Amino acid sequence: MSTRTTKSSPAAAAVATHRLPSYLDPNHLGPWGTYLQQVDRVAPYLGPLSRWVETLKRPKRALIVDVPIELDNGTIAHFEGYRVQHNVSRGPGKGGVRFHQDVTLSEVMALAAWMSVKNAAVNVPYGGAKGGIRVDPRNLTKGELERLTRRYTSEIGIIIGPNKDIPAPDVNTNEKVMAWMMDTYSMNTGATATGVVTGKPVDMGGSLGRREATGRGVFTVGSEAARQIGLPIEGARVAVQGFGNVGGIAGKLFAEAGALVVAVQDHSGGVANDKGLNVPKLLEHVAKTGGVAGFRGAESITSTEFWSCKCDIMIPAALEGQINKQNASKIKAKMVIEGANGPTTPEADDILQDKGVLVVPDVIANAGGVTVSYFEWVQDFSSFFWSEDEINQRLIKIMKDAFDGVWNTAQQHKVSLRTATFIVACTRILTARDLRGLYP
Ligand code: GLU
Repeated sequence: MSTRTTKSSPAAAAVATHRLPSYLDPNHLGPWGTYLQQVDRVAPYLGPLSRWVETLKRPKRALIVDVPIELDNGTIAHFEGYRVQHNVSRGPGKGGVRFHQDVTLSEVMALAAWMSVKNAAVNVPYGGAKGGIRVDPRNLTKGELERLTRRYTSEIGIIIGPNKDIPAPDVNTNEKVMAWMMDTYSMNTGATATGVVTGKPVDMGGSLGRREATGRGVFTVGSEAARQIGLPIEGARVAVQGFGNVGGIAGKLFAEAGALVVAVQDHSGGVANDKGLNVPKLLEHVAKTGGVAGFRGAESITSTEFWSCKCDIMIPAALEGQINKQNASKIKAKMVIEGANGPTTPEADDILQDKGVLVVPDVIANAGGVTVSYFEWVQDFSSFFWSEDEINQRLIKIMKDAFDGVWNTAQQHKVSLRTATFIVACTRILTARDLRGLYP
């Protein structure tokens, strides 16, 4: 007897009346809603693989953990932490961990999903994952931050590992945090496991070039895109939002290539100089004071002035949803390069496209970080370390080739670079899904 379900079978009726999880609501707001809309835009281009498209709309695995720590004053504080593995069809989960007061489960789900797309877009053999703790780390002492990191690592220890899921730095986490994570995991498993996290200090299994890799990738892909639209980098006017590990390095590389960084905004405020800011000095100022505000040799600007400033290239390198329907129409740039994850909402994407602004999406533009994370992981496994030159050359080659592939896909289908990147990446993810087959 056939076991296949027909329309009238009880199984089909069960599927039809089965209530969908709330995260599949097409009107879902925030980063996860943005991601769902991006998947809907790619679905028509997936051919026979579209039978698997639902896979992309559901995280494979999501863990919520309570992270209690003793504060220096003797009280106990509880924080909520997450680790989401969105998809592991192409390899272990991979993606950063962020410490931020606005972190939520649905945000981490979106960030994990974008990692699946990003990793497939540059063809590194990983799925997508992300983690986070809802905490403002500026309110913690160094000891409290270490206890928070170690307890969180221990709690998510049941799903991470060098072959399972490999965390890395993201917003407000750095090499030091990765060293604590690596140590905690190693203590719990009884063996030093350098490959459990990437973005570690170079002295304990980290890779040369990792710290600058995301910014270098933004610069590489941005330069390729500029070449395609005939925009010379020499003399180009650049505005950057967020001047940390991504925006700061990207700004520095653009300035070194002859561009003028005319406006920078971060959590502390905005600064501008029509003749170009002194980027090395601004980086020093940020390292000393924690933000761009108060930088001498610049006028201070409001957020509205920042978004409407006269520039050719705009680099959002902070948080999600920064370019939205309120400010998108004010942007004067010819090109937006997304250093952050999810900085542009779907409405803003459409406004920019109608205005003829080229958007180079996060899932390709900021993939340099995870690409060198992959190099770090390979080096850890082989216990053989490469020179910085070798790393940068391999990084630049991967980024350029990936971008060229995306550019051609966009031309072929007459779609945005975002949809083109999703076409390339989702085809890879769902091909692996299809080849592996459904278990059981
Ligand atoms: N957090 C970075 C990102 O969003 C890097 C992730 C990684 O290296 O695994 O791409």
